[in-house]
Amino acid sequence: MTKIFAVTNQKGGVGKTTTCVNLAASLVATKRKVLLVDMDPQGHATLGSGIDKKQLQASVYDLLMGEAGIEAVRITAEAGGYDLLPANVDLAGAEVGLINEPRRERRLAEALESVKKDYDFVLIDCPPSLNLLTINALTAARGVLVPVQCEYYALEGLTSLLDTLKRVASSVNPGLEITGILRTMYDPRNSLTQDVSNQLIQYFERQVLGTVIPRNIRLAEAPSHGMPVLSYDPKSKGSLAYLALAGEILRRNSL
Ligand code: ADP
Ligand code: MG
Repeated sequence: MTKIFAVTNQKGGVGKTTTCVNLAASLVATKRKVLLVDMDPQGHATLGSGIDKKQLQASVYDLLMGEAGIEAVRITAEAGGYDLLPANVDLAGAEVGLINEPRRERRLAEALESVKKDYDFVLIDCPPSLNLLTINALTAARGVLVPVQCEYYALEGLTSLLDTLKRVASSVNPGLEITGILRTMYDPRNSLTQDVSNQLIQYFERQVLGTVIPRNIRLAEAPSHGMPVLSYDPKSKGSLAYLALAGEILRRNSL
């Protein structure tokens, strides 16, 4: 069965997009078929997949508004070997555009219905806020991956995020589960990183994934070359970490 994961955290800059692009490519490396959905008007997952967001024929905006079918929006991201539903700044208009529409929180779930059989995994990159776009992602998903940067304010935001997820789940998607909390930009030489990491494990226990994503310059450089780190520098620490994450997710879900 297709596993659909939303990658979300209302904080910006915690590694959501980096995780989407690189986990997608790593799952492809394990011979899984993957669809990446860019639900952020910033279009960073689109750019990081090597797609020019200004040249899109159709985007997730058209899909949500019912102005294009999924076949018109879906493209192949050659650099990562996965398919992509791309986005650009147009998507910022979807919230207002959908405001009086019926089933506005179910638009993405309904659009994915006809293609999800083509994939082992669908990963959805969320914007850094809990808006209608994120609600669409959470409604379509089975599981939620929450990247967390191990820094002082990480825990504070996290408790309220998880409470919100529970509330969303109980109203629009009762099957939704927390797949895991992912520690990103981990710097073992920094004692604060370790303190926060230990606290995360203390509070959230098994919900914290065992794989840790280190701070790695290659991960930050790869998007400017329009490719996942696995294509840009396959031997880098960042590559190995995201391959390990793919392995852990496959094991945890017995896939
Ligand atoms: P978000 O999608 O949550 O806003 P991003 O994935 O865009 O976060 O990451 C924010 C910035 O940090 C980007 O410039 C990205 O390249 C960089 N970055 C993300 N993860 C790492 C990492 N593990 N090591 C180094 N830089 C990273
Ligand atoms: Mg992002």
